[in-house]
Amino acid sequence: MQIFEDILSTQKRLLELRSKGHTIGFVPTMGALHKGHISLVERAKKENSITVASIFVNPTQFNDKGDYTKYPRTLESDLKMLNGAGCDIVFTPSEKEIYPNPDTRTFDFGEMGNVMEGKHRPGHFNGVAIVVSKLLDIIKPDKLYLGQKDFQQVAIIKELIKQLHLPITVISCPTLREPNGLAMSSRNMRLTDTQREKAGIIYETLCGIKEKAASVNVEDLISWAKKNINGVNGFNVEYIDIVCANTLKTVKAMSDCDEVVVCAAVKTGEVRLIDNLQIK
Ligand code: AMP
Repeated sequence: MQIFEDILSTQKRLLELRSKGHTIGFVPTMGALHKGHISLVERAKKENSITVASIFVNPTQFNDKGDYTKYPRTLESDLKMLNGAGCDIVFTPSEKEIYPNPDTRTFDFGEMGNVMEGKHRPGHFNGVAIVVSKLLDIIKPDKLYLGQKDFQQVAIIKELIKQLHLPITVISCPTLREPNGLAMSSRNMRLTDTQREKAGIIYETLCGIKEKAASVNVEDLISWAKKNINGVNGFNVEYIDIVCANTLKTVKAMSDCDEVVVCAAVKTGEVRLIDNLQIK
């Protein structure tokens, strides 16, 4: 596994590999890797001759400074995991390398960028778009591997790729979960054992919504779900939205579109957890 910290040598190596006919699969991450990230690397390995992962905690996508400073950083174990998974190249740039100057671009994703995470984390998706556009420009992958765990992010990045006319296929990969259903996340490292155990309520509730969706109206489903999660001591729902999978528009009834997803953000202590489930 080769590790590069600077853009030029990464590009030089990738140019060499591309000229030999290799295809490139790319897995961007913010590190603090877990099995969910590794599942993306494994998928990329199956579908490309070279797999590149990046580790960069992107300051411009954090609307909350405290969240940025407290974001777990575990580079040594990340590199071990990537090496174990057979990743070929890791790009671990410094903040200076990615942002020699502030990047002041603003992207417009329409309504899609203003709901759910966009509404509750102002500026978040603009920061995501800034860093992803830079990373895609540096790596120039054939395929980009993203987790459905960040459902809205996948939709935004697909739209970004469309807006920039990039010849990149997005592969959206399933969410890996803990035995109690909690979606694996780097932020789970910040949970206490009790919080982690209780956090199973989030997925349990999303599954409950799926079960009830055929017989209960959307408004009642949401108020049931909020009550269910808020009923657990120390857990507070930030939002639960039931949206159309393609447009991310809130549905009034399950019949509004063919594919429907429920998305949730929940806070426990200082940790904010997100999850989602396709319910139709
Ligand atoms: P992050 O390091 O949180 O920016 O995540 C990097 C990539 O891993 C993103 O595409 C995430 O959606 C994906 N990812 C995060 N958690 C999981 C998970 N539990 N299962 C599958 N993919 C995940």
